[in-house]
Amino acid sequence: MATMIDGKAVSAALRSELKEKIAAFAAASGAAPGLAVVLVGDDPASSVYVRNKHRACEEVGIYSEVYQLPAETSEEELLALIDRLNAAANIHGILVQLPLPKHISEERIVLAIHPDKDVDAFHPSNVGKIMLGNYRFLPCTPAGVMALLQYYNIEVAGKECVVVGRSNIVGKPQALLLLEKNGTVTVCHSRTKNLADVTRRADILVAAVGKAKFITADMVKEGAVVIDVGINRMENGKLCGDVDFEAVSQKASAITPVPGGVGPMTITMLLQNALRAAEMQQ
Ligand code: NAP
Repeated sequence: MATMIDGKAVSAALRSELKEKIAAFAAASGAAPGLAVVLVGDDPASSVYVRNKHRACEEVGIYSEVYQLPAETSEEELLALIDRLNAAANIHGILVQLPLPKHISEERIVLAIHPDKDVDAFHPSNVGKIMLGNYRFLPCTPAGVMALLQYYNIEVAGKECVVVGRSNIVGKPQALLLLEKNGTVTVCHSRTKNLADVTRRADILVAAVGKAKFITADMVKEGAVVIDVGINRMENGKLCGDVDFEAVSQKASAITPVPGGVGPMTITMLLQNALRAAEMQQ
């Protein structure tokens, strides 16, 4: 049976360290780090994420403002709000919850956020810095995966790392971060041939596909470390990852559960980025 990589426990430990650092920052600078979270429309999943982010900020002492705008908000109105937040001295980080309604260009919105306040690390300037290895912020989910590996002393250098999924938010940056830690990285996607042959090579396998129980036991090497980024809502309302947890946990040496694995780490990394943004702007 695999070691359970407990994202909830790691998150709690990191958040308590972060709380102390934030208190020290606030004492030294006279103000807490400030994060603005903007939600357009009433997508229920996005509303839950935004509420959780606000709560997490309160827990660690980050000042947070939540803007819940109606679905019919125009692109110009949203850009005007971002301009105001870019200029606000008490706001160090800005996060616009994606996806946005179809009439708003996500690209224009991401470009409008000042790179120093871009705590999601989606702005091309921050993406470029990650590519070059001299980043300000790391995107929260891949950074959370790296923090889990570090916390459990899982060495990446020299390991065969396979990432399934190549999205801009998860798969691609995940591959870069594993490469930066000297892993030998392969990225798979929907056009990959003989996927199971590739995933079976992995010492560290990261699944970011968005399909429930997609990674089955026959796709995993005995003793592999398996990181499940997927969050899929089942018909019974329960959450399920991209990995067939029951079967794969019999074969892996370590595995993340869903929920309670990568998910809690994503918000913790956002909190870390908000503190980093505030430190940079002081
Ligand atoms: P996405 O943008 O939909 O990307 C999915 C990726 O999976 C694509 O690159 C796609 O390949 C690949 N894929 C789809 N079918 C495949 C197949 N049959 N074989 C191999 N690859 C396949 O999703 P995402 O935003 O990266 O998110 C992935 C999952 O992570 C979702 O479940 C999402 O909810 C979850 N997520 C979790 C967190 C967290 O905090 N834990 C954060 C973000 C996302 P192509 O590029 O070829 O289409």
